[in-house]
Amino acid sequence: MICEGAAGRSERRKTNPYAALDENRAQIVGAQGRFKNSVVAPVAEVTAAQRLLDQCTSRLDGIQMTFRARTFVTPAVAALLSTFASASVVRSHPAGAAGPALPVGAASRVLVVAPHPDDETLAAGGLIQRLHAAGGALRVVFLTDGDGFPEGVKAEEGRENVTASDYRAFGRERKDEARAALHALGIHDDTATFLGFPDGGLSRMLTGYWSDRRPPYLSPYTRRNRPAKSELLDADARFHGEDVTQELATLIAAFRPTAILTPRKEDQHVDHCAAWFFVADALGDVTRVDTGYRADVLTYIVHFKSWPYESELPALSGGAGWLRLRLTDREMAQKREAIHKYKTQMKVMDWFLEAFVRRTEVFAQPPSPRVQLPLRRSPCDQFKS
Ligand SMILES: [Zn+2]
Repeated sequence: MICEGAAGRSERRKTNPYAALDENRAQIVGAQGRFKNSVVAPVAEVTAAQRLLDQCTSRLDGIQMTFRARTFVTPAVAALLSTFASASVVRSHPAGAAGPALPVGAASRVLVVAPHPDDETLAAGGLIQRLHAAGGALRVVFLTDGDGFPEGVKAEEGRENVTASDYRAFGRERKDEARAALHALGIHDDTATFLGFPDGGLSRMLTGYWSDRRPPYLSPYTRRNRPAKSELLDADARFHGEDVTQELATLIAAFRPTAILTPRKEDQHVDHCAAWFFVADALGDVTRVDTGYRADVLTYIVHFKSWPYESELPALSGGAGWLRLRLTDREMAQKREAIHKYKTQMKVMDWFLEAFVRRTEVFAQPPSPRVQLPLRRSPCDQFKS
């Protein structure tokens, strides 16, 4: 076969590529009586075969990235938002393009994907509050603990020579800060999931460190090659890209978000860019198994040129139009309070974090991505961590 030996799913994954996903779906069926007529296993087999075929195509084409054309907003989002057309939601109309409204309402289920603790608050601290107030459901998934930040660790320890143990302790501290920040935003239930993948290493796992055909990526900071045990959804997870996809797919299948907020691939932080690829890949996995499921992917920007110091919008195309959420004074104050919970970050870059306490939060809904990982070369490697 032409793609034999391709750097695709490992043997473990190919045997049952949606093992965790299927198990999760079984729980959902049992708990809620849904999907009574779904036949998961055969679908998984078909989709696994399709995936292998896709990987062959991917091998031939190099980076395969196709985009499904879509209009401004899906009917599901439009229906949700018709019940939430308040004056506080501002529709943007940049360059003559009408922007859709934001997916915030009682029926909304929003998954916020944060590469590091603080991204969720910086990008969506207002949206999280608005969602909570509207009675919607929230889940925040942190891909890394933010434990690969030398300047931060040195500032925390007060010395130049820091150890792997210091980096690990820093990661634990940032997780505590994330919980405190969500609390400050009014989120008191357990909505956070920390996957514990390597800060600064996500892009490497899009390519060479994809599967267990190779040893896992080793963090030069924490000296870990797998998530800390307490973080595991999949007990076998290592610092391999397919494990990131698998964990995300498991979360998406269990939570079934109506909208997923994720960094945009143009974000100039290497982990943020890589996060977009993993989310797109995981969502593709879920929709191949659950063909009736759709989620809107909304993107946010944290690191891009002089953002967030522009007066209105990042210097990027808004795709189908930028979505703007206008924050109230109270929401801005709570967002500032949440940002200040990130003491380790405030210590070294308060000027940057404070700049996200803006009157508006902006998101984009680019065409739905279809990405097939792994990549031969990661476009994210051009960015710094
Ligand atoms: Zn980040």
